[in-house]
Amino acid sequence: MPVPIRPEIAALTAYKPGGAAPAADALKLSSNENPFEPLDEVVAAAHDALTNAPRYPDTTCGPLRAALAERHQVTPDRLAFGAGSVSVLMHMLQAVCTAGDEVVYPWRSFEAYPLSVSVPGATAVPVPLTSDGHHDLDAMVAAITPSTRVVVVCTPNNPTGPTISGTDLEAFIDRIPQDTLVVIDEAYVEFVTDPDAACGDAFLDDPRVAVLRTFSKAWGLAGLRVGYAITSPELAAATSTVTPPFSVSAPAQAAALAALGAADVVTERVQRVVVERERLVTGLRDLGFAVPASQGNFIWLPAGPQTEAWADHFATHGLVVRAYAPDGIRITVGTEQATERVLSAAADLCS
Ligand SMILES: *Cc1c(COP(=O)(O)O)cnc(C)c1O
Repeated sequence: MPVPIRPEIAALTAYKPGGAAPAADALKLSSNENPFEPLDEVVAAAHDALTNAPRYPDTTCGPLRAALAERHQVTPDRLAFGAGSVSVLMHMLQAVCTAGDEVVYPWRSFEAYPLSVSVPGATAVPVPLTSDGHHDLDAMVAAITPSTRVVVVCTPNNPTGPTISGTDLEAFIDRIPQDTLVVIDEAYVEFVTDPDAACGDAFLDDPRVAVLRTFSKAWGLAGLRVGYAITSPELAAATSTVTPPFSVSAPAQAAALAALGAADVVTERVQRVVVERERLVTGLRDLGFAVPASQGNFIWLPAGPQTEAWADHFATHGLVVRAYAPDGIRITVGTEQATERVLSAAADLCS
């Protein structure tokens, strides 16, 4: 007989990855991955690290920690690392929450939030987005109770695309109780071009704030699993204590460090994605779709009850997109060729 599973865990649906590309020439635009080949220096650094495969990696992520502390202008003890920022979030919530605590987050947003909240037995308090895909910050404040331990914001919001402005985020944080953690998930911050958008780094003087960053999107290392939080030394230490030791492999650490060293090329690539994002938004709007302005490397097609049907339509055009029935479809921005294929499939949908 199998052992009993905690009921709140048994009730969960496992994280569903974006679909695989079905045919050889199909494009996988379902997981917000970077469309470019890895940089030579990144591959070389990861490869070199394999020489040390028999040894455990540096569990402190020393050199990477030092480089990121410098980049964010914080002391190294304010960073916590994990196998992707999803892992960091999960461990941070385990460090902060227990059964009966509440976690407020926007919805629809990142699929991993409900899962991360349930693992420590906390209660999810999803707050609906506004009709144009923005966080409803007033409603989020109104959802806070004495049991609220954490409030999560996602900017730019996955899957809808809008950011929170710096002034709005500042006013929001001012309204959060003193003992409540504010997690600012910035998985796509490198793609932001709106000068009014919030940047989590600006809030790091506040010990209630944790900023989440990842190497999976702009830095093109989704397959290697490196993410981190920047927060108070106390919460960084607690999060690291909860995280299994050696979570970030040596090749992953080396690759992340090499990617930081090639930041200029990475930025150039990000700019190419941004150009395609704007072409895609403009093209889809010209076709009559109500696409919200996106600041990430993806766009949102509010498809409502047509979500599954439209996703199937894209699939017949060799495009794997992410369907979130009954709300809409998220399409990752790729190369110029991907933009053309998405626009042509979308045009076909209208005719
Ligand atoms: C992709 C993503 C992450 C990070 O994913 P990892 O690969 O685990 O680093 C975090 N938050 C959001 C909103 C994302 O879309």
